[in-house]
Amino acid sequence: MSQDARTHRDEQDRDDPPRGGEPSRALLVVDVQPTFCEGGALGVEGGHAVAQAIAAFADATRGSYDLLVTTQDWHIDPGGHFAVPPAEPDYVDTWPPHGLAGTQEAELHPALADLAADVAVKKGAYAAAYSGFEGVDAQGRELVEILHEAGITAVDVVGIAESHCVRATALDALAAGLSTRVLLDLTVPVTPEQGATARREMAAAGADLLLSTDL
Ligand SMILES: [Zn+2]
Repeated sequence: MSQDARTHRDEQDRDDPPRGGEPSRALLVVDVQPTFCEGGALGVEGGHAVAQAIAAFADATRGSYDLLVTTQDWHIDPGGHFAVPPAEPDYVDTWPPHGLAGTQEAELHPALADLAADVAVKKGAYAAAYSGFEGVDAQGRELVEILHEAGITAVDVVGIAESHCVRATALDALAAGLSTRVLLDLTVPVTPEQGATARREMAAAGADLLLSTDL
């Protein structure tokens, strides 16, 4: 957003709350955890850089969002989500253990230490959960309920990995009737090919794919 646009919006807020014409929008920060970054159990190349970029973006745009939500893979005993030795993970339905509840790797990425999210959603305790909409907050509320109660009608989705949990979260947001944007420079796929497939799927489902610098 340009400085002019921001100033204009701020004036609108003062004169005519709630903001005229703008939907109530949440930023969904999906699974930015060390376990999904380089050196983690299921590290995605570019994960640390995306974590830093998301932190900077969130800091710069905090006033533009009505709600800031983080999600975390938070596995206690997720059954068949983890490959059981001697079986090897197939990296489609079964994975090496990752995002283990209570471990440092499952915490939010250190770059997000100052994020001050409004809501922290954790998912996948006892089953695979790719979408943030499968998670609950500390009070046990589901994400769709949290967004509804906050009057949110639009979401921006960022995080790790674009081809998996960002994709699933964006598709569920659309299915829930939320206007959904995915900020492509603030997410990273497991592989370029899987990223391209995910972008086609998200666009076909109605997501707007854009760059944070174009907002
Ligand atoms: Zn998982």
